[in-house]
Formats: sequence, structure tokens, C-alpha cells
Amino acid sequence: MLNREELREIAALQGNGSYFVSLYLNVNPVTNVKGDYIIHFKNMLRDISEGTDKKILKKIKADIGNIESFFISSKRGFKKGLAILSSAEQSFWKEYNLAVPVRNEIVVDKTPYIKQLLDILDNYQRYAVLLVDKESARLFLVHLGEIEEYGEIHTPDIPGKHKKGGWFSLSQNHYERHIDYHVGLHLKDVMKKLELFLAEEEIRGIVIGGSEDAVIRVREMLPRAAGEKVIGSFSAEMFAGNNEIFEKVKLATGDFERKKQKATVSELLTAAMKRENAVLGTEDVLNAIQEGRIMKLVFINEFRDSGYACRKCRYLTRQKVSPCPYCSGEMEEVGYLVELAAQRTVEMGALVEVISDNKELSNAGGIGAFLRF
Ligand SMILES: [Zn+2]
Repeated sequence: MLNREELREIAALQGNGSYFVSLYLNVNPVTNVKGDYIIHFKNMLRDISEGTDKKILKKIKADIGNIESFFISSKRGFKKGLAILSSAEQSFWKEYNLAVPVRNEIVVDKTPYIKQLLDILDNYQRYAVLLVDKESARLFLVHLGEIEEYGEIHTPDIPGKHKKGGWFSLSQNHYERHIDYHVGLHLKDVMKKLELFLAEEEIRGIVIGGSEDAVIRVREMLPRAAGEKVIGSFSAEMFAGNNEIFEKVKLATGDFERKKQKATVSELLTAAMKRENAVLGTEDVLNAIQEGRIMKLVFINEFRDSGYACRKCRYLTRQKVSPCPYCSGEMEEVGYLVELAAQRTVEMGALVEVISDNKELSNAGGIGAFLRF
């Protein structure tokens, strides 16, 4: 399972002279009817071999072979996106079968290239979905563009408790009270299960579905911490299909994500303007990284920049300097400065937030960061 902890470990890997092949490939069967991704992969491979040192190509030969055999053996299990990080020399192999699209990209470098995986983690957070009625409930987990049914809760009625006279001898009033009592028991049960679920999974938001009455009642009963996580609701029948539920949930989560990203950007711009522990633009961000001050790196998904990296201490800059001003190490030209910045940010345990689209941040340089001090 793709998670932050694992990416942190991967980001910290160093080749020590050996190389990593990082491949991102769109394998979506809809856009790759005849397995066209193999052709795309070969083209990317050809492009990279033209611009890469022969010695390096020799080092990654086994990786390419492993990737090709992986294609043949696993194509039936492919979803939309595929990410492979491989270093045969280091006996390192990670594959991610993703239900979300990736950009076709291959990178050969001394460290694994994880930017797209970071994007995915950031853009597809986890949500809990609770669909509930008077005596049953269904719980779902939404992540990485997919919905997964997590469990079902059914609270059976206990007629034994009301045996005297049976159902039909109860007065209307009595009968209603009984139903109400039972619904109350059921919802308490649901709350318990939901709390367990929230404790186990890292959930950003909760979406509640059901009849209008059910949604209102559940919201009233939710413990405060869970209540604060509710980001929306929808109406659906208990037997609704997973796809139908997912479509309704996406409306709520999409709105929530957009609002959150907008708030992040405006907070960043305001803080930077007041010079309150925030910076904007590649140059200032790179300086903050070098000083270990980053709390959260924020950049536009499409933002690219290039510059120079120190081979030894990994200092990053847009300026052509040589040798490294920090360690006198050799500097090399790099075409994916943002990725390297994100990687160093992840390594120092700081956060990365990828913004899908935002004009204000684009105008302010496409990248910025909240600082620790
Ligand atoms: Zn250096």
C-alpha cells in the first residue's frame, strides 16, 4: 500500500554509485487498447538511451529487463497507472498498480524519482463513507480514486424483549417507542464501529449518506472529533451500487479538496507578504531547504524548473555555481529541480502539498513554503 512512511524511506535511498530506474506509465486499458504502453515505454527508453552515458546504460540493463518481464507477467492486473522504482544493483524493486492516472515518464538517477507518487498521495486523500438507515449501515473507504467497501453493520431487532403480548398488542405509541429505541441502539453500534475505523485509518473527511432523516440523526450523534470531519452528505438507498455511491461521494470530496487548496495558497501568500515564516519562488524555497527550515512545501502540479545539484551534499540551486559553496563538491545540471526539492523536503520529515491548479500561486512563482522558523 502506498503511504507516506514508505515514501519517506524510499526518498532516503542513495545509490552509492548505482542507479535507479523510475518508470511511470499510463497503462489504462481504455487509452491503451492494444497494449500501446509497451510502445510508449520503448520510445521513452530510446529517448533516454540517446542522452545517457553508456556506462550508466550498462548499469541499468538488468532493470530494463526486469521491467519488460514484469509487463508480460502482470498486464492483466493493470489498472490506470503503473509506477516502478527499480535498482537491480541494490536489489531494490517497488511496483505500484494505481487506480489513478500517471504521466508517462522515465528517470534514471542515483536516487528513486518519487514526485508523481507524492502527487498521488497528496491529491487522493482517504475518506470514510457511511451509508446508514434504521437497522443497517455500510462503511466504505475512498482512496486513490477508488471506493472499497469496508464493512457492514446490521443491528437485529430483539423481539424477545417485548414478548408479552407480541408486536400487535403494543399500542401505536408503544410500537413507535420500541422502533425508536431500536434505531437508537443501532446508531450507537454504528458510532462504535465508525470510531474504530477512524482510529485505524488516516481519514481526512467523512461523508454520510442515507435518507435525510438518517443523515440528520447520525450527525447529531457523532462524537465531536468525528463530527468535525464531516465534509458532506448525500442521499442514497441502502442497496445502491458502489459506483453510484462513489459518484455522489466525489462531489463532496472534490469541493472539499478545492476549498482546502485555495485556503492553503491564500494562507501562504498572506504569510509570505507579511514575512511571517513563509517564502515564495524557487530560489527562496531552495535556500530554506538548505537551512532545514521547511515545514510544508507547496507547489503547482505542473510547475517545472531546472538548475544545479551538488553531487556530494545535494545542495540545490538555480544559479550556475561551481564548486558547491557548502562542501566544495562537484555541481551537476538537473532538469527536475522541483522533484529534487520535494524529495529533500520529504526526507527532512516535512510535508508536501501539491496544488492542482491555482492562478495566484502560478503568478507568485508556482512554488512556496511554510517555514518552521
Ligand atoms: Zn555540496
